[in-house]
Amino acid sequence: MFVYADNAATTKMSRVAIEAMVPYFESVYGNPSSLHSVGQEAKEALEDARARVAKVLGCEPREVYFTSGGSEADNQAIISAARLGARKGKKHIISTAFEHHAVLHTLKKLEKEGFQVTLLDVREGHNVTAQQVEDAIREDTCLVTCMYANNEIGSVLPIAEIGAVCKAKGVLFHTDAVQAVGHLKIDVKEQNIDMLSLSGHKFHGPKGVGALYCRRGIALTNVIEGGAQERGKRAGTENIPGIMGMVAALEDACEHMEETMAKVKAMRDRLIDGLSQIPHCALNGDPKNRLPGNVSFCFEGIEGESLLLLLDMKGVQASSGSACTSGSLDPSHVLLAIGRVHDVAHGSLRLSLSEYNTEEEVDHILTVVPQVVAYLRGISPVWRDLQNGKREYIL
Ligand SMILES: *Cc1c(COP(=O)(O)O)cnc(C)c1O
Repeated sequence: MFVYADNAATTKMSRVAIEAMVPYFESVYGNPSSLHSVGQEAKEALEDARARVAKVLGCEPREVYFTSGGSEADNQAIISAARLGARKGKKHIISTAFEHHAVLHTLKKLEKEGFQVTLLDVREGHNVTAQQVEDAIREDTCLVTCMYANNEIGSVLPIAEIGAVCKAKGVLFHTDAVQAVGHLKIDVKEQNIDMLSLSGHKFHGPKGVGALYCRRGIALTNVIEGGAQERGKRAGTENIPGIMGMVAALEDACEHMEETMAKVKAMRDRLIDGLSQIPHCALNGDPKNRLPGNVSFCFEGIEGESLLLLLDMKGVQASSGSACTSGSLDPSHVLLAIGRVHDVAHGSLRLSLSEYNTEEEVDHILTVVPQVVAYLRGISPVWRDLQNGKREYIL
């Protein structure tokens, strides 16, 4: 059995998204900046796509800028807010300790330029509260950037409450909503969101395309210089096929959100209940306010990498929070941020579901994960020490 359970990393494209792209490769391949008719046809498609994204987010079309994905949108939002703040002598930014690296690394860069960054603690409930945000806001705060939902552990943040706090204090609010768009209901005006990042490939659209919502009146700073595309704020010939595929996927996801997310949630809860039976494990992330498809656990006494390799051999495509694959032995900053110690953080497993998963696949996962965990513990010196009482259990 082949089970794809890594939808937080990327998703399979939907049929509607693929079909929406084809005409823009084959016939409407013009450059939207060209004055001839095939160019103008592409331009019309682009503006239609912008209006459709705006409708989904609850904003105006002119507030939507297409980008190369979530990372670029995060970079541009944060850098823009920082530049605006610096002009008024405000160089303090608030974020959380479990953001995506697209946010954290941009903040690191700004710190080197003299900005001060406060990263909110996420140990309590594996989440942040609007009160924490309110308490951290200072006279010189120019931006609050908090993700909508965490990609590793699935916690969904109290975005509307944070938005209300930021509005009351007159501080710009950006949210990296890459994991939330297409999965959770979003209304940028109702939730007082000033800037929001989204990415096509996290909701069955294509890779390499995303969007930034930026409230009218907030001046964006270019991250990519060149032509006058995207109201002069993002240079480069627009990725029309990608944009059309993304918009089709977005509408499809939002139209069927209630049914699909109910189905995904039921599978998630069955996995969480089943895997919780494994001794000495712990669920990561907010148990209540949680992404519909996220299952994240730490298992004591094993290595996440071995777990992934053995699961792959059983057909289960999953992910771990540790970054050993990228050449470092450091466990995930997200798991450390919620207070998991190194040894425990190393034994992590993330299963992220979509509506393409089935109950049979859930059964398969529920059979193989306990087997593989038991096997790995059987050959683990750490587990032997725990069993012999030479080490204390943490979980
Ligand atoms: C995937 C992801 C990103 C990056 O998006 P790309 O389109 O791959 O650049 C940013 N933030 C979160 C929370 C993500 O899950």
